[in-house]
Amino acid sequence: MEYGQEDKPLRVLDNLNFTMHGGDTVAIVGPSGSGKTTLLQLLAALEQPSSGYIELDKQKLSTLSTDELADFRRDNMGIVFQSFHLIDSLSALANAALPLDIAGHVDALPRAKKMLESVGLGHRVNHYPQQLSGGEQQRVAIARALVHQPRLILADEPTGNLDENTGKMVADLLFDLHAQSQATLVIVTHDMRLAKRCKKLFCLEKGKLIVEENRDLLV
Ligand code: ADP
Ligand code: MG
Repeated sequence: MEYGQEDKPLRVLDNLNFTMHGGDTVAIVGPSGSGKTTLLQLLAALEQPSSGYIELDKQKLSTLSTDELADFRRDNMGIVFQSFHLIDSLSALANAALPLDIAGHVDALPRAKKMLESVGLGHRVNHYPQQLSGGEQQRVAIARALVHQPRLILADEPTGNLDENTGKMVADLLFDLHAQSQATLVIVTHDMRLAKRCKKLFCLEKGKLIVEENRDLLV
């Protein structure tokens, strides 16, 4: 993957080649600036690779139009960001219901309410993001990312803005929801303890990718 003009490109990811299986848990680790977010954005089809291709479920993402990609993302993916990215003018419930609303589901609100209950926020549905703690906001963001039961969950440093205990709670929640849904979970993180809970470790360094099966889980 290269950024910038043709005469002076910045090569961020170089010759990456890997396969993930449905239901896998994958951690992407690496120093700041190593391309972790870039890789996640490629998987989310928010960026297109400058060469090569990404295939999800035998579907080459590069063959889809912008509209088809938006639909594909809406139907199959849930994305969680480090800084939550909630909409301040909407209640927790309306935030969590957004993906279903956008897809035109009439039962968006009851489903979002159920999802908020399953992240432990059933009593805070009418609160606005500013009235919630960081951990609670991240749980709303997770509810929103998972409310439409995506098959691929992408999380970019989801615990990066949380203190240690809250971060652990949020991580536990992601793994619990993964276990229930069997969705594929990809987490970018600096936290090796979190990374080690994943089945596969992808280490990015100087544009290259080293894939490790997580031996800790195999003993
Ligand atoms: P990480 O998430 O591992 O910190 P990023 O994927 O955000 O790394 O960035 C990798 C490199 O690509 C950095 O050098 C960054 O400055 C550069 N980069 C990221 N996004 C862009 C962009 N849109 N245009 C140009 N360069 C970018
Ligand atoms: Mg990043």
